[in-house]
Amino acid sequence: MTEHFLELTPYSPIRTGDLKPRGDYLDTRSYIPGSVLRGALAEWLKAKGETAKIAPLAQSMRFGNFFPAPVGGIYALPFPMTALECKRNGGFRNVPREEYRKAGHGIRDSLFITLAYAELESLGARFPVPMLLRCTTRNGKSELCGGRMERVGGFYIHRREGWEKVSVSQGVQTKVALSRHRRAAEEGMLYRVVAVRPRGVFVGRIWTEEEEAIHTLKEAVEKVGVGALTTRGFGQARLREIDAVLPSIQERLRDFNRVLREVWQELAELARATGSDVPAEPSGTYFSVDLLSPAVLRTTQGLSTLKLELYLGGKLLEPVFWATQPAFVGGFSTAWGLPKPTALGAAQGSVYVFRVEGNEEALLPELEELETRGVGESTDGGWGEILVCHPFHREVKPV
Ligand SMILES: [Zn+2]
Repeated sequence: MTEHFLELTPYSPIRTGDLKPRGDYLDTRSYIPGSVLRGALAEWLKAKGETAKIAPLAQSMRFGNFFPAPVGGIYALPFPMTALECKRNGGFRNVPREEYRKAGHGIRDSLFITLAYAELESLGARFPVPMLLRCTTRNGKSELCGGRMERVGGFYIHRREGWEKVSVSQGVQTKVALSRHRRAAEEGMLYRVVAVRPRGVFVGRIWTEEEEAIHTLKEAVEKVGVGALTTRGFGQARLREIDAVLPSIQERLRDFNRVLREVWQELAELARATGSDVPAEPSGTYFSVDLLSPAVLRTTQGLSTLKLELYLGGKLLEPVFWATQPAFVGGFSTAWGLPKPTALGAAQGSVYVFRVEGNEEALLPELEELETRGVGESTDGGWGEILVCHPFHREVKPV
C-alpha cells in the first residue's frame, strides 16, 4: 500500500478520549488516533447511503495516527523512550530564536550508547567504569553541569530554525453525557470533557492504493467532523495531502547503522585499552522498531506481552535490546461517544532493536512492508504504528 501524508487543520476543539482507568472523567489524547478518521469515513458513507462501501473501503486502507505540530508541513514525532534531558535544566538547546527562553541543556538519545555497551559486554568486554549518563553541558566557560539525565515525554519537531517540544492545549468543559442517547441521560452521567484546542495542525499517515479513498476521507472530515460530540460543534476540521515529511527507510537504516558503528568504535577502543578482546565494529545489520502509538502485543503462544517479536524473512526474531513500559490502551466508540474497555499494551515511545545477518539493502523490502503493516493487534485503526529507525536515535549529542 502507498503511504500518504495528510494534514488535518481543526477549527473547533476535538474530543478523542480515553477513560482513565481510575479517573472519573474522560481524558483526551494529545494526538488523533487513526480510528477516529476511520470512524468519520464510515459515518460519511452512511450519511450518503453508501453503507455497502464501508467495509471494503475500510479494509483497503490503514489509518495511522495524527500528531500535533504547531505549524503546517512538519511531522511531529513522539520522543523514543531512550531520549533524555538534563534534570537540572531540561529542554532542547538549539531552539528557534523566538523560543530562546525555553532553551535547556539539550536533549539527546541514549539508545546507541546503551545498545553498544550491552552488545560489547555480551561479547566479553569489561569496562573500567559502569555506564553513567550525565549532562555534558558547560555552565559558563568551564564548569560541567553533570546533572542527572531523565526521560522526556511527548512530541517534538525539528526544522531549520531549531528543535521544539510540542505542547497541546487542552480545554475542559463539563457536560452531561446525554447527547442523543437516552440511556446515558437516564443514568444522569456527568463527565468532564477534555478537548484538544485547535492550535496548529495534526499530521499523520494513511496507507491506501486508491486515490479515491483519500478524496472521500477529505470529504468525510469536512462534512462529518472528527472525534466525538461532533453534533455539539466539536471536531470541525479540514484535511489536505502534503509532501512526505520523513526521510526514507533506506536513509534512516543507513544513518542508524552508521551512527551505531561510530559509537561502537569508541566504546570498543575503551574496552580494548583495558584488555578486552572485542570486535572493533558491529557485525550484521541493526534496526529499531519504534512505537509511535501503543501496541497490543502477543507472544507466539497468544499471551499478552510487552516484548515485541518479529517474523522477518520467515524467521522469528527476538530483540537484542528493548525499552518499554505498560500503557492502558482504550478504545473509543465515535457512534456512542463513550469509551470502550481498556487493555494493556506497550507504551508509545517503546524501542526495540533487532540484529540480522546480511546487509542493509537485502533488508529494505521487508522493513518497508513492516512499517506499512505496523505491529500487534488492531493496527488498521492506529494501534502499533511504528517507525523503523526513528530519526531521533541519531542525536547522540545534546541538541
Ligand atoms: Zn545540565
